[in-house]
Amino acid sequence: MKSLLDKYGNLNIEDIVANQPSFKRIIEDGIITEEEIEEQSQRVVAKIKEIEAIATPEVKEKMRELLAEMSVMVAISNLKDITAPEEQVYHCSECGHVFHKHDVFCPNPKCGKLITYMDYNE
Ligand SMILES: [Zn+2]
Repeated sequence: MKSLLDKYGNLNIEDIVANQPSFKRIIEDGIITEEEIEEQSQRVVAKIKEIEAIATPEVKEKMRELLAEMSVMVAISNLKDITAPEEQVYHCSECGHVFHKHDVFCPNPKCGKLITYMDYNE
């Protein structure tokens, strides 16, 4: 069996996903439809049933834990993408003070410059 881990022992989800035929097919046209999501969900259900039919109770439990942990990883990665823009810091082109994407004016009280696209270019 091919390992889910790469030759360095790391889990490279992006490569696994990119090489999976179902993923290649779904993104082929650049559009992900509700139907494709539903089909993928059915694919997961079918896989779980296949494994449950042949696995021992111990393996089933391990599989459940693995799927749960992997799902948590996907969920927190998605949340990270949503929160990342707020974590990104920029520097005021006038005074060099750190500001965040949501700032309209430089947070440095001695500066207070209006943030423009110039301040994002570094
Ligand atoms: Zn400033």
